[in-house]
Amino acid sequence: MSDISATEYLSRQQELEDEARKLMPWDPRSCTYEKGALRQQVFACRTHGNIGICYSCSIQCHTSCDIVELFTKRNFTCDCGTERDKPKSENQQTNEFRCQLRKNREPDVASLQNVYGHNFHGLFCSCNEEYDPDSSAVMLQCVLGAECNEDWYHDYCIVGKGKEKQGAKRKADEETLADGMPPLDSFDAFICWKCVSKYDYYFQKLMSHSLAEEVIAHRIQRGSLEEKDLSRSDKKRPIDDVTDGSIDYSLTLKHGYSKQLAKIKETLDKKTDKLYKFLDDLVPFLVNDDPVYEEPEDTATGADDMVSLLLQSSVQREQAVAGISAFNSLKTRLSEYLRPFAESGRVVSGEDINNFFEGNEKK
Ligand SMILES: [Zn+2]
Ligand SMILES: [Zn+2]
Ligand SMILES: [Zn+2]
Ligand SMILES: [Zn+2]
Ligand SMILES: [Zn+2]
Repeated sequence: MSDISATEYLSRQQELEDEARKLMPWDPRSCTYEKGALRQQVFACRTHGNIGICYSCSIQCHTSCDIVELFTKRNFTCDCGTERDKPKSENQQTNEFRCQLRKNREPDVASLQNVYGHNFHGLFCSCNEEYDPDSSAVMLQCVLGAECNEDWYHDYCIVGKGKEKQGAKRKADEETLADGMPPLDSFDAFICWKCVSKYDYYFQKLMSHSLAEEVIAHRIQRGSLEEKDLSRSDKKRPIDDVTDGSIDYSLTLKHGYSKQLAKIKETLDKKTDKLYKFLDDLVPFLVNDDPVYEEPEDTATGADDMVSLLLQSSVQREQAVAGISAFNSLKTRLSEYLRPFAESGRVVSGEDINNFFEGNEKK
């Protein structure tokens, strides 16, 4: 650093930023606000009044904020630089950009569709706790979300057990799921007991349909070990044993459930059947393809390709392992790691990136 000028340093810093940006799995150059309500990656900013922001804004506009990664939410519009995005301090210059990407100087109109649940305060599950990166508990997101706003649940809360009961055992064998949880590869999607309860009437109808067992993988009772594995039950018998009072159970859906739900829909009377209306109006996203919006990927070539692939797979691995992971802390550590390269003007190679992640895994 001693023999390069400040201007030179800054321009290298810019190069480094460009480089780091290139390494990010998605291109963080545009805010999704103008695209309106999307199913997209959402990040909560606890520094700016717990607003939800898009992936790009989390990287470009809220760099030094306290960010919580929420993964995906449906019908969400970025709130960076809207009326909900309160300036950090009173003496913020009024002519500053509200969103660094949209470059608006006046706050934009905030979407009325955004639903703000406790996730935006960094709290998850029915136990209302912060995400614990040191816990090996598995967390599942509710695919329906009508009641819970697509909340995340601990496996032990899904089966209605306390965290303490599961904790000690968990340490010995990290792969162990809470008692009563079906193996994760035996289903594709999870619907929490709150959402099942909200639509109890329709779920009863669905479960008594002759094709129900093609869709429903498990019924997970809360508070008892009794977990009814529908796939193993009598094939011919409709699933009618749910009228025994309690609706305190979650459901899991089989792989390919959308196709099967579409088949079920076809058997129903469009005009009179309430289950048809449910599938058509209330949960169309379960029946139809509902992709998560992603920013276009950078078109890197050659060595860059390898580097970005490495980064991408590491980020995905970290997300898969940690669940709701601290993507930003990874990004910060990577910038710190890359800083000496910028300072000395050295070229970053795939090997360097590899070394970063190897060192990172040991942390
Ligand atoms: Zn945004
Ligand atoms: Zn912020
Ligand atoms: Zn922004
Ligand atoms: Zn919980
Ligand atoms: Zn739910």
